[in-house]
Amino acid sequence: MATSSGSIAAVIERLRSALPREAVITDPARLATYDCDGLLVHRVTPAVVVLASDAEQVRLAVRACAEAGVPFVARGSGTGLSGGALPLADGVLIVMSGFREIKEISRADQRAVVDPGVINLSVTQASSPEGYYFAPDPSSQQICTIGGNVAENSGGAHCLKYGFTSNHVLSAEVVMPDGSQVTLGQRAPDAPGYDLLGAFVGSEGTLGVATEVTVKLLRSAESVQTFLAGFESTDAAGAATSAIIAAGIVPAAIEMMDALAIEAAEAAVACNYPDGAGAVLVVELDGPTAEVEAESAAAQRMCREAGAFEIRLAADAEERMAIWRGRKSAFAAVGRISPDYIVQDGVIPRTKLSQVLGQMGELAADKGVRVANVFHAGDGNLHPLVLFDGSVPGESERAEEVSGAILDLCLEHGGSITGEHGVGFDKAKHMPKMFTEVDLDTMQRVRCAFDPHGLSNPGKIYPTPRLCGEVPRKRSANDPNPYEGKAEIF
Ligand SMILES: Cc1cc2nc3c(=O)[nH]c(=O)nc-3n(C[C@H](O)[C@H](O)[C@H](O)COP(=O)(O)OP(=O)(O)OC[C@H]3O[C@@H](n4cnc5c(N)ncnc54)[C@H](O)[C@@H]3O)c2cc1C
Repeated sequence: MATSSGSIAAVIERLRSALPREAVITDPARLATYDCDGLLVHRVTPAVVVLASDAEQVRLAVRACAEAGVPFVARGSGTGLSGGALPLADGVLIVMSGFREIKEISRADQRAVVDPGVINLSVTQASSPEGYYFAPDPSSQQICTIGGNVAENSGGAHCLKYGFTSNHVLSAEVVMPDGSQVTLGQRAPDAPGYDLLGAFVGSEGTLGVATEVTVKLLRSAESVQTFLAGFESTDAAGAATSAIIAAGIVPAAIEMMDALAIEAAEAAVACNYPDGAGAVLVVELDGPTAEVEAESAAAQRMCREAGAFEIRLAADAEERMAIWRGRKSAFAAVGRISPDYIVQDGVIPRTKLSQVLGQMGELAADKGVRVANVFHAGDGNLHPLVLFDGSVPGESERAEEVSGAILDLCLEHGGSITGEHGVGFDKAKHMPKMFTEVDLDTMQRVRCAFDPHGLSNPGKIYPTPRLCGEVPRKRSANDPNPYEGKAEIF
């Protein structure tokens, strides 16, 4: 891969001649705005930013990069928390946030066709007058883009019942890393052949750039009930979660916050959660009215049986919003009780919640670091917030250490190093803890089939980025492709 300053200079010149003047940014002060995503600890100023407003501009930028051997990174709103959209100092950052038309909302077949820069919540807002909504709802839904959601296979509070982004994407128009264009998937379900759309969703920008996405819309539920349950401990709240799921009830959401997360939310938005709670659950049920009423009553009973000392059932939409306010503001609210924090993202089997939260508490106490927990309990998807003060020598290192050790705990209990925020730049080093060399090589082969020159968001997901054609080491005996020297190619 040629990434010399000569190549990038040629690409910039080409971009300037082909794109509108305001679409190509090289001014260092403006470039600095794009030097990180939601993971603020890693910063790299890109060589150039392209503000794409249509597919042709994306194609043009990618083709210029491909011909010069210059790497590129796609960026939506930059809310990613794993450094997936971290730019490259010698590369092009293609920003999609201005590329945002909702092209179609089809009530007849419950589909929406959108540009990649469309904000997640806008899809629901546009389809709700028709009685529909877009189910994946990351807590960042007011700002993150559909392109970013597809790249991260994002989840959210309501993914317990409705599934992650991958369950709601039907097709994607993609600019491949060589600048060509393909459509993966189709508007009707179940295309024959390999599930290349499945490979693309969650590929974190390493297989190309999505320029149009067709998603499924769901019919808005007839009825919704939301209640808040206060418990003395996370153990009791975890037991209630397991009891509800074991009873065959699948709420739209079961979210948990521990005492520290509640303290932060109270300080930020005065959410008035139950006094003295060591944990709260926000439980939401939706569906036909009779079913919701019966399941909500059963879930409330199970919470009481598990030790809930207070339950508040929202009487209307306003009270429902009040319940959600504390949960939705929790990440940002942590800024009220700590100058700095790391948002971790790991997943564990739900049945291990009490055990892992307990061990996490011991780990944090041992290192003298505070950890606040606010997470998707129903999915076993943890979001520990590791608090620290960067101005105190050694604190950020200790926080990093605790944050990494939490992932080890997740793996130890049969979980994963990421539930929904992706691997990105941040967690690439943890991949070998979860996958063997053969696993990683196989993934790399898929990547090379899309991107043989490693130009599309290199340095993300994989711990040791290799180019197709490199011979990183002696092949293992069980390599799946030992013919004609191809075993060495990736
Ligand atoms: C407060 C807060 C709460 C959050 N809550 C959640 C949550 O509940 N669930 C969850 O899953 N995530 C959550 N996130 C993380 C983040 O919002 C999601 O990962 C989101 O999908 C990122 O979208 P984005 O547009 O900001 O993408 P970016 O951060 O800009 O990019 C993310 C990745 O997508 C790639 N990408 C972007 N656009 C394209 C494209 N068109 N084609 C190909 N690749 C592309 C980038 O290269 C990068 O690898 C949260 C973040 C914050 C700050």
